[in-house]
Amino acid sequence: MRFEIGSATDVGQVRPGNEDDLLVDDALGLIAVADGMGGHQAGEVASATALEAIRAAAARGTALTEAIEYANSAVFDKAAGDPDLRGMGTTVTAFTTRNGAQLGHVGDSRAYLLRAGELEQLTTDHSLVEELVREGRLTPEEAAVHPRRSVITRALGIEPTVQVDRIPLDLVTGDRLLLCSDGLTSMLRDDDIAKVLRRIPEPARVARALIDAANAAGGDDNITVIILDVVDDELPPGIVTPVAAVDHPEGIPEEAPPEAAPTVADSIAPGADITQAVPAVSVRPPDVEDERPPRRTGRTLGRIALAALPIIVVIGLAVAATRWYAYRDYYIGAVNGRVVVYNGTPGGLLGFNPERTYVTSVHVDDLSGADRNDVRDNRTFASRSEVDAFVGRLEDAVATATSTTTSTSSTSTTTLLPGAPTTIVGP
Ligand code: MN
Repeated sequence: MRFEIGSATDVGQVRPGNEDDLLVDDALGLIAVADGMGGHQAGEVASATALEAIRAAAARGTALTEAIEYANSAVFDKAAGDPDLRGMGTTVTAFTTRNGAQLGHVGDSRAYLLRAGELEQLTTDHSLVEELVREGRLTPEEAAVHPRRSVITRALGIEPTVQVDRIPLDLVTGDRLLLCSDGLTSMLRDDDIAKVLRRIPEPARVARALIDAANAAGGDDNITVIILDVVDDELPPGIVTPVAAVDHPEGIPEEAPPEAAPTVADSIAPGADITQAVPAVSVRPPDVEDERPPRRTGRTLGRIALAALPIIVVIGLAVAATRWYAYRDYYIGAVNGRVVVYNGTPGGLLGFNPERTYVTSVHVDDLSGADRNDVRDNRTFASRSEVDAFVGRLEDAVATATSTTTSTSSTSTTTLLPGAPTTIVGP
């Protein structure tokens, strides 16, 4: 498979520093975006640490999902070992051609596929508003402007382990893959993104145009974009042409790099892993983590069930009642210095352990004494809306407190990319 890749990252119009990061490793056939979070530049450390860990693991031959799990440990351990980095975390959305084209995904950065002019979102956000949309409590339109839309429910570095979405892809010639941080999607509607993707053929130019559009729409957040065009889904395998990674769009050279058609000799590096061409089929749905086992049917089973029906009903009702009781309430606690909302009973009840509902952006250290005690004592709330309201109050209190202190801006960047165009062979 041959690709052409363009990428760009930008601080945006509002934020003092860029906590996003991106990775284009042509030799490994690996691209990724990461959106870091955490105070005092910790977000930059989180995103850079995660991408470097993924690259290192992939270089050792680790599969993408495991490489992302490894990155989770790397960020978690670094956060635990340094008080300045406590509570840091990062999203990651990565694509590789190793072991079949696939995405690995955690958080609210996104991957999209433009195929035959139609744009499709391939990833599902691990965010509070996405959960509310799924539960039918918000419309997608309401979610797009919800004040708490940046609260994510899954990230690297927050807990010792993380669940990674794995999404296999079958790409065909002409496909255009977009990986981006939420600084793009929170500023532009999908329709507007699709228009830009359809209009501009060169990946480097379209990456810059998307960043310009997000900045024109306000640039509220750091913006990162990687565009991957499938130039040829047949053999020879694995030409990757990364084009540019820049911090400021105006810094990019005007003309696109020459589109010299690589020869077959160019395309086969010494020791390159020659994989067979992937058949041209449509994109498969994500691997579902909570896939239900196949239904068991059969007369024998039915007869046993019928005889045992009264007992089963009694036991079932007791379990259901216990479960209802165990998960009636919500409470707050702390993980890695960050306030976390749980559903359930602190410590669990008869095997029904509490489930983490979401991780807030609030650091325990930033709270007043009374609020900190509430977190320590696992203050309990009778409903989701009550705990959401309480968290909202904490966020507002912290925002008010921090807005009165001056913050220093940082423009230091950790880029994993060569800035110059190169042509390299991937798997
Ligand atoms: Mn962001």
